[in-house]
Amino acid sequence: MQVTRKTFDEVMVPNYAPSDIIPVRGLGSRIWDQQEREYLDFASGIAVTGLGHCHPKLIAALAEQAGKLWHLSNVMTNEPALKLASKLVELTFADRVFFCNSGAEANEAAFKLARKHASTNYGPHKQQIISFYNAFHGRTLFTVSVGGQAKYTQGFEPLPGGITHLPFNDLAALEAAVGEQTCAVVLEPVQGEGGIMPATREFLALARQLCDRHKALLIFDEVQCGNGRSGSLFAYQQLGVTPDVLTTAKGLGGGFPVGAMLATKEAAASLAFGTHGSTYGGNPLACAVGLAALTETSSPAILENVAARSTQLRDGLAVLATAHGVFSGSRGMGLLIGAPLVDAWKGRSKDVINAAMRHGLWILAAGPDVLRLAPPLNISEADMAEGLRRLGQALTDLGKPA
Ligand code: PLP
Repeated sequence: MQVTRKTFDEVMVPNYAPSDIIPVRGLGSRIWDQQEREYLDFASGIAVTGLGHCHPKLIAALAEQAGKLWHLSNVMTNEPALKLASKLVELTFADRVFFCNSGAEANEAAFKLARKHASTNYGPHKQQIISFYNAFHGRTLFTVSVGGQAKYTQGFEPLPGGITHLPFNDLAALEAAVGEQTCAVVLEPVQGEGGIMPATREFLALARQLCDRHKALLIFDEVQCGNGRSGSLFAYQQLGVTPDVLTTAKGLGGGFPVGAMLATKEAAASLAFGTHGSTYGGNPLACAVGLAALTETSSPAILENVAARSTQLRDGLAVLATAHGVFSGSRGMGLLIGAPLVDAWKGRSKDVINAAMRHGLWILAAGPDVLRLAPPLNISEADMAEGLRRLGQALTDLGKPA
């Protein structure tokens, strides 16, 4: 059966507008399309394939588990889930883990936990969730509502209530809003979809302080910035603030769908038997791959490479910014880097992405005004240099008269 991009329009719901290119295989930092054209992948499937494509250790873990046991449900636990949870507990602040299949599900669990924790321990008045403009927490109705981008909720009303949105990194607004009625403050240590905007240390410290004062849970959404992408296994580990609950997905499975909510023992206790669940959460295949991926992404070799390649990428972007004037520099952490477009190019991130694609480089946008680069965490120095060279070619093209 021959399928093309046209097939998408004929058989798929039109909620996406995918590129004309249909990749058919990948290896390391590269993918190849149906016509055997090669692309360097600086997108990682939106910060998912942190170890590149077809990593031998992930293939081995998947193949081994595929020959043993695929699925049980939560009526019986399984060895890969227990091993992955144990490793997450060992490597983080968390005492307890809940598995699911995506970032949205991890956040859904965290928001439900926050409400349950507050109503069980303090009473029904304590239900306010505080989140931030431009935040992104997923596409379920609860998570788009907590997220701070109106375009994702319009037309889906009525929305869940009890959610307050504040400007990100605004200390005074946060101080004024958190109170006895607050059950949780939720934030991304680096806003991803919202433009690769890091939280300031002062903002995180104040959020922690206010949550402690008002007995609210501090929830960090590390779906995008977690799993080594920030340069530490989780971003909080280099920011001096520890949350009560942390959600993650994307890079956790290196490309196999798995999500997790990590929590302190005290917070986790609220999700007592029967209060929440997922048929596939903790699936043996997902957790076996997750364990192999986590073992790699938490290794000093990978984290040192993230630091070195991050410097290389940001230095390269600075050179390109000066030479072409399309973007003004870069921001972010580790290998989650945003390049904000200058005024004259605002709204045209798609044009830059398309030009890069023509030169064999896949990059992303974080909104219309910011380019987003999220290459694999194990990318080589040579591949990073080649990606920057291709981006330079694309920018040169864009500068030529049409
Ligand atoms: N949270 C953050 C910070 C994200 O970046 C995303 C996805 O981009 C999500 C949650 C939702 O994850 P998923 O698409 O796996 O549901």
